[in-house]
Amino acid sequence: MALREQDIKQIVAKVLEELKDQVGSLEKGRTSQASYCYGDVDDAVEMAVKAQKIWQWEYSLEDKKKIVDGLKKFLLDYVEELAVLAVEDTGMGRVDDKIAKNRLAVEKTPGPEFFTTKATSGDNGLVLEELSPFGVIASITPSTNPTASVINNAICMISGGNAVVFAPHPSAVKCSLRSCELINQYLTSQGVPAGLVSSLSIATLENARKLMTHKDVRLVSATGGPGVVKAALSSGKPAIGAGPGNPPVIVDETAHLEKAAKDVIAGCSFDNNLPCIAEKELIVVNCVADQLKRYMLENGAFELKGGDVGKLKKLVLTEDGKPNKDYVGKDAVRILADIGIKVPESVRVILVEAEEQDLLVQEEMLMPVLPMVRVSDFEDGLMMALRVEHGFRHSAAIHSTNIDNMSRMARAMETTIFTKNAPSFASIGFGGDCPTAFTIATTTGQGPTTPLSFCRVRRCLLHGAFRIV
Ligand code: NAD
Repeated sequence: MALREQDIKQIVAKVLEELKDQVGSLEKGRTSQASYCYGDVDDAVEMAVKAQKIWQWEYSLEDKKKIVDGLKKFLLDYVEELAVLAVEDTGMGRVDDKIAKNRLAVEKTPGPEFFTTKATSGDNGLVLEELSPFGVIASITPSTNPTASVINNAICMISGGNAVVFAPHPSAVKCSLRSCELINQYLTSQGVPAGLVSSLSIATLENARKLMTHKDVRLVSATGGPGVVKAALSSGKPAIGAGPGNPPVIVDETAHLEKAAKDVIAGCSFDNNLPCIAEKELIVVNCVADQLKRYMLENGAFELKGGDVGKLKKLVLTEDGKPNKDYVGKDAVRILADIGIKVPESVRVILVEAEEQDLLVQEEMLMPVLPMVRVSDFEDGLMMALRVEHGFRHSAAIHSTNIDNMSRMARAMETTIFTKNAPSFASIGFGGDCPTAFTIATTTGQGPTTPLSFCRVRRCLLHGAFRIV
């Protein structure tokens, strides 16, 4: 049957109208099909609000558990892809370690099973306290752990019944968006509405600020340096602030030195020292310093001395004494090559003997350059550790067999994370028996975050009944 001219005109007009709509939404940064990525903050939050209500009320606890478990299984197939992309995108870190981080985020981030209900009963009846979602969360993520943070945050946040809109770091946009795309792909395949986990496509500071202060955003989670934590705390919303650190590690004269050396190298060099919890300066009791150093040199450290130390500092510090971003998260081999020293690929850490006031000790360098400071005894070391941690109360570690020293340091440091006789990463579940967290809420005190951290406590009382004894 031949189409009439009038019909053809109508069809063409309809197609053009649809194309216009699609181009319009793409121009706003919104992929109309996938709906995980938005150029416009209002669009992202509007979708998240709708999705969150459905997720909270139309999906049972059992549904949520099944979907989060399924999401974890699905993501396991992508941990390598995301690690490669993160290194390409940011130019920082090591692919093998980023694979380990992504795997850790998938396997050891707790899900909905983490929740319990608190019940108290007495002469007056029964009181229940339950954790309920905030609603839509704005999550600001760092460049240092971009994909692992998105995975870890997304699992925690939706497990508590929330929706999340991410504002990825400007230098980690591609890999953060890909993480969101995959999460969204799985969730929508299970019928979960698009928008439950989404991201802003344009990662400007202005956009991040607009997101944090949006009227329908009920909680802000900020993982990064002091600037973003301050911005989150000034947003007027409840906030989770996961800020910077400068973790010291002490080795005292009672430590198992060979193990201590291996653990310090492993922790310090993990993902080229990008984790906020990673060992940033080594404080060692003088009588065992030479032996410890020998073990470190046998296990992946390369020592720089004399004029080479000056060359290194010129390279890795800016004129105003801050870490040079071009060298943050770079391999030790590459840093050494840039000062004309060729070493085997097995070198993971550049070791430099230093004094306390050295900028390599004082600054959070986020690169595999480990300054080692000698002290006369443990007490001196502890006082120094307290000073160089700068009161962030973030992370610290000790290698010792003296239980008094271990307890004294754990108490005195008051850090959110304290590790004894292991690489620092054991405390986020990599070789340690604890759940993993890539948002360690130091500033605001929630600690290593879990699904519970992104929920609020609600109390419900029934008077005069339901006590059964
Ligand atoms: P960063 O502070 O440069 O960026 C973090 C995020 O905040 C980015 O998305 C950035 O765009 C945004 N941002 C920065 N200033 C902002 C502002 N004023 N308003 C709105 N948004 C803002 O951090 P980075 O370099 O990617 O990460 C490294 C830092 O993060 C280190 O200091 C590290 O210790 C810390 N960190 C802490 C944790 C933790 O759990 N405590 C985890 C990872 C990283």
